[in-house]
Amino acid sequence: MAKIVCVLYDDPITGQPETYARDGLPTLERYPDGQTLPTPNAIDFTPGSLLGSVSGELGLRKYLESNGHTLVVTSSKDGADSVLDRELHDAEIIISQPFWPAYMTAERMDKAPKLKMIVTAGIGSDHTDLQGAMDRGITVAEVTYCNSNSVAEHVVMSVLALVRNYIPSHNWVLKGGWNIADCVARSYDVEGMHVGTVAAGRIGLRVLRLLKPFDMHLHYMDRHRLPEAVEKELNLTYHSTLESLAKVCDVVTLNCPLHPETEHMVNAESLKNFKRGAYLINTARGKLCDRDAIAAALESGQLAGYAGDVWFPQPAPEDHPWRSMPNHGMTPHISGTSLSAQARYAAGTREILECYFENRPIRDEYLIVQGGELAGVGAHSYSAGNATKGSEEAERFKK
Ligand code: NDP
Repeated sequence: MAKIVCVLYDDPITGQPETYARDGLPTLERYPDGQTLPTPNAIDFTPGSLLGSVSGELGLRKYLESNGHTLVVTSSKDGADSVLDRELHDAEIIISQPFWPAYMTAERMDKAPKLKMIVTAGIGSDHTDLQGAMDRGITVAEVTYCNSNSVAEHVVMSVLALVRNYIPSHNWVLKGGWNIADCVARSYDVEGMHVGTVAAGRIGLRVLRLLKPFDMHLHYMDRHRLPEAVEKELNLTYHSTLESLAKVCDVVTLNCPLHPETEHMVNAESLKNFKRGAYLINTARGKLCDRDAIAAALESGQLAGYAGDVWFPQPAPEDHPWRSMPNHGMTPHISGTSLSAQARYAAGTREILECYFENRPIRDEYLIVQGGELAGVGAHSYSAGNATKGSEEAERFKK
């Protein structure tokens, strides 16, 4: 029988909700490209309830314990005295969400001789040392597509919030003011602006589709080109480099995975290629950007705004400069963990576990690493290597 360690974010400070703002969730049949939603044999949770925090347990306890397994759920994940570290010695499966990632470094893998699988309940397995997993024959899986559309909605919200100066204007209301000039002195329309996505995968392409009705000019940069029919349908301009895209775009949104090839792709040098007053939205991964270069670009006005929800490390320490830099619209890492998304990735995690325990193949769509190499979706979207360096700084966050 297996021990599963599941690292989840803390419950709300007022405790796990007893009631919710809405009753139930809309029913989705399929993802936009036809991929089916998760198909576990059963679920033991109510869709629309809070599953991603410790008390929600991703709805897994009944299933795992009724099959004789041991489930440990904790939010204590950083530092050698964390519950995660203490439980590693006999853990067979580690589950965590990118919002509150269990950084699975090579050192941690070495403390877990029985470890067979690391599951990302969500998308983006960069918090696992993929090279380390390959070297040790550990499977890495994630729930592809579960929250791609959720993130795309957050990107669109952020584009509009920054360009229209929504957050400072809302703050004037809270302060009891009616300072129209203060609000609009930084407010523009997105209509007619050029917006470009770095990567046109599930999220990036969705962002382009959602922004099309705003009559923005659409650009993308990717390692592979989209089908010609899609380029024509959306009137897309393709760029083979970030430099070429940044030079013409008023708004840039990052939607590629973090791997050694993309780490710090936005830095002091590449920011020089951006138009003065460009807006940058990053809901992909904090480490795609050089932390201090972003803060400096906002101070100097090279960037007019920066928004997103991803930081490095997570949780970000209290003195992280992105908390206090000017003209930002940052949130904690939330875009992919709406109640709607949680229901999908909890079901997807259950599907992966059922496959594992019943010796059935895990869908290719969910595989990142298997049999010592990048596999499935991972072989397409990631490159080999390790992007967890520096994650030990997460220990500096104090609750
Ligand atoms: P997809 O795999 O559908 O898309 C990723 C795209 O990135 C692919 O088109 C891939 O290109 C492209 N890509 C990879 N490397 C590069 C590169 N060096 N330069 C340009 N493009 C590149 O994933 P999703 O769209 O669903 O998610 C993307 C990322 O968003 C995730 O990896 C994750 O980091 C982040 N994310 C964030 C969430 C949040 O809550 N904030 C939630 C979900 C995801 P190709 O396939 O052509 O090689």
